[in-house]
Amino acid sequence: MNENEKKQERSVRLMIYYYVIAISIVLLINWFLFPALTGTKVVEAEYSQFLQQIDDNQVSMVEIQNDHISYITDIDGSVSYYRTDFTDDPELLQVLKSQNVEFGQVGRRKPDYFVSIIICYILPISIILVDGFRKKNKTKDSELSSADEKSGMSKIHVTTTSKTTFDDVAGQDEAKESLTEIVDYLSNPEKYAEIGAKCPKGILLVGPPGTGKTLLAKAVAGEANVPFFASSGSEFVEMYVGRGAARVRELFEKAKKKAPCIVFIDEIDTVGKKRNSSLNSNEEREQTLNQLLTEMDGFEDNKGVLILAATNRPETLDAALLRPGRFDRQVRVELPDMEGRISILKVHAKDYKMEENIDYNLIARATSGASGAQLANIVNEGALRAVRMGRAKVSHADLEESIEVVIAGEQKKNAILSLQEKKIVSYHEIGHAILAAKQTNSAPVHKITIIPRTSGALGYTMQVETRDKSLLTKTDAMNKIATYCGGRAAEELVFGEYTTGASNDIEQATKIARAMVTKYGMTDKFDMMALETGGSQYLGGDSQLSCSPETAQLVDRESLSIIKEAHAKAAKILKDNEKKLHELADYLFEKETITGEQFMEILQA
Ligand code: ADP
Ligand code: MG
Ligand code: ZN
Repeated sequence: MNENEKKQERSVRLMIYYYVIAISIVLLINWFLFPALTGTKVVEAEYSQFLQQIDDNQVSMVEIQNDHISYITDIDGSVSYYRTDFTDDPELLQVLKSQNVEFGQVGRRKPDYFVSIIICYILPISIILVDGFRKKNKTKDSELSSADEKSGMSKIHVTTTSKTTFDDVAGQDEAKESLTEIVDYLSNPEKYAEIGAKCPKGILLVGPPGTGKTLLAKAVAGEANVPFFASSGSEFVEMYVGRGAARVRELFEKAKKKAPCIVFIDEIDTVGKKRNSSLNSNEEREQTLNQLLTEMDGFEDNKGVLILAATNRPETLDAALLRPGRFDRQVRVELPDMEGRISILKVHAKDYKMEENIDYNLIARATSGASGAQLANIVNEGALRAVRMGRAKVSHADLEESIEVVIAGEQKKNAILSLQEKKIVSYHEIGHAILAAKQTNSAPVHKITIIPRTSGALGYTMQVETRDKSLLTKTDAMNKIATYCGGRAAEELVFGEYTTGASNDIEQATKIARAMVTKYGMTDKFDMMALETGGSQYLGGDSQLSCSPETAQLVDRESLSIIKEAHAKAAKILKDNEKKLHELADYLFEKETITGEQFMEILQA
């Protein structure tokens, strides 16, 4: 308290100095500026002086008025204004004429006192007042950010005016709940200190890209209303070559002074990667990391500095970072479920003009696995489409179309398919669709289209799950593979020929089949044995087989037999429904885009 009072007193004194100095500067400037602005000085002259000046041939122009004369002298280019009282002098005209003095309006600028006063006094003083007022209102942070600028640390931002709140983060209820506690701690530390509870030092936000980790961190700052030091791991290693450790130290020094406050390090994996003993280790990064660890240990006594960090690669983080006393708490920020997706769509839809009758439920169902960032993107793409179509509001169709844009690449309007190609694509897509429809438990077909996408896909069969699925059964997996095989199987059945159109299907089917063997223990041969390691938990990426070369061969053989089984199943189902296959393919060929209902109507007729 005492400390605070002293601070306040000091800042009041500073304010007074500020005003006094600023106002004296204004007055000083005006001493010179005001006369200049209010017009040139006019010298009162005696009549005799006037006559003398005429004689000396200095007067260049004269204006005779009722009771006085205004005149201008011009001595080697320097002009002065004079005024003298008019005495009735009959000789004057003669004299003037003989000296060739011009008669005319002595166009002395009339002083504009109003404008001059505004420019010289009112304007500067109001600037001082407004500026001073702002300075006073900017709490502690202004000192901070100016200090940052001086030390060239402008990349590390300080904000207290983060307008993001938890309301802007949709879904993520669990994450918000754990963070609410932190906000509460930062707002009333005494409450916790009374019981002896300590706030966690570091909280790691962990989750796949685009799920709102950065957004959540901003929301915490917005909710807690405490100073917020935001930085990104990559800034330490890239921007400040050779100075990473020093920057970390500076950042924490500042933060400690401002406790309670939040330090946010985005993408911490760039500094926090596992240190290894390999030769080409990154010296710079390791020093930065060591400094970070030291700092985190160092502020035991400095309660109230909370470190938030975000990463989508927790598995790469150095174990030392995750030790108790450092980032000992992890908050999972997972991909949104059905409910989460609906609310994310709605949060973002608020920023756009939307039509009334939008079925967010359906959009959410069609975007299983999409991240918050992708959903935000879908809404925006929908709005862009509405503008392109010349509409004033975003419609449901816009959103549905933009799902495909974000997930499958945009419609390619000018790619021209030959009729034969179009026919093949029709059969291929109907092949997928019939497989999806004829196997129990697979997601219903929502839409089939053979309008090419910029992603390179020539057609697209969109399935929409009726509910969120977290567990995939072996039957589900087999069904999925068979559905992927459906396109190729239809081509074989009808044309007896292979095309390149199935390449993506092949890739997907193989991925699932391999995972069934190496990851999910769905084969008798390998039982519960894990055969692969590594791979990012959230980014997918390269997992490696961890087995002997002989086993690897077996894995290949097992995966192949799964795919073969699924392919045969697909061929059989299509053969059994060959008549419908032709009928539907013809229909799609003609319409180019059909809905799931139209499809089912013909299939079940
Ligand atoms: P991350 O840091 O996890 O990669 P971001 O926080 O940068 O993801 O999210 C990117 C954008 O996606 C956000 O600015 C926001 O528009 C949107 N977004 C992501 N998750 C959500 C969410 N849960 N609620 C609302 N918007 C979200
Ligand atoms: Mg981020
Ligand atoms: Zn296909």
